[in-house]
Amino acid sequence: MDVILRKKPLSDAEMDLADVRAGRDLSFFDLVSINQVTDKDLVLLFDVARRFRDYKTYKFSFNKGYSHINAFFEPSTRTSSSFDLAAKQLSMDTASVSGNSSLSKGESYLDTVQTIDAYNVKTIIIRSKESGVPEMAARHTNASIINAGDGWHEHPTQALLDGLTITDHVGSMNLKGIVVVIVGDILHSRVFGSLVRLLKKMGATIRVAAPHTLIPKEVERFGVTHHVSIEEALSGADVVYALRVQSERGANGFVPSLREYSKMFGISKARMALAKKDAMLMHPGPVIRDIDVHSVFAAADEQSYILRQVENGMAVRKSLLWLISDRIDGVRKTFTRK
Ligand code: ASP
Repeated sequence: MDVILRKKPLSDAEMDLADVRAGRDLSFFDLVSINQVTDKDLVLLFDVARRFRDYKTYKFSFNKGYSHINAFFEPSTRTSSSFDLAAKQLSMDTASVSGNSSLSKGESYLDTVQTIDAYNVKTIIIRSKESGVPEMAARHTNASIINAGDGWHEHPTQALLDGLTITDHVGSMNLKGIVVVIVGDILHSRVFGSLVRLLKKMGATIRVAAPHTLIPKEVERFGVTHHVSIEEALSGADVVYALRVQSERGANGFVPSLREYSKMFGISKARMALAKKDAMLMHPGPVIRDIDVHSVFAAADEQSYILRQVENGMAVRKSLLWLISDRIDGVRKTFTRK
């Protein structure tokens, strides 16, 4: 039966956001890989995110009447809290399911996501220990699925927030000539999986610095150069991006010890000085102080963009949730539940 849905008139802040959006829609309904994001999508996501950022915690009514589920089957601080707050600041109703869900009783991922989907929610954010869960889920739901990190594979919204942080600093969407050094556990990192794809597309030059044991075979196929000497990699860099050693994936067994790793690859003041004078230090979090980066960089140092990344994460996720849930063209994701 038809129901009557009428939207309230927009507030001044909402009209401002609608002006920035300028009638544009994204090219995708689910976000499982950064490869889906076109150049146009990127410009739209960033334009809207920058404006949302200006409004801080202002409550927009754009997604009123829509529901949102955070399904995090692995630990998270930044990604889960920012998605939840972003949804609330768009007036969505939110709920969470976690590793404590019926998955632990033996229910499959498929049955779990189809159960959630039966509540007619608009967005389901999935983080999983295994690679490929969000992609599988996206094929079986009416809700839009957003990958919040799947195993060793990808973490597309992390790459988006990193892309926003870098382009704001550089002042251009074109990163040609910008040297980004990614340091650390490349092998087990889903952050690397999305970041490298996005930055290559934006034209950046990428060097990776890590011991041979923490580098995937044929990493050069991503169009990056591998350096075992961190000093060589850092020389003249514009961005230094440190990654955590992923101990929950057994990475500790790939280095002699964390102390040893930190001596060889940890980002100290002295090492950072090898990069350009105003080089940015970035990290997706959580930072393991004095292992991946020296304590001084963990928050307040002027070269550290770590908290700026966190702030941008909120803005970019709000942008994504609005654009995905509230399409101007009215087209819907097509999946027919039997
Ligand atoms: N927070 C990021 C992730 O979930 C990075 C990390 O955990 O080291 O992949």
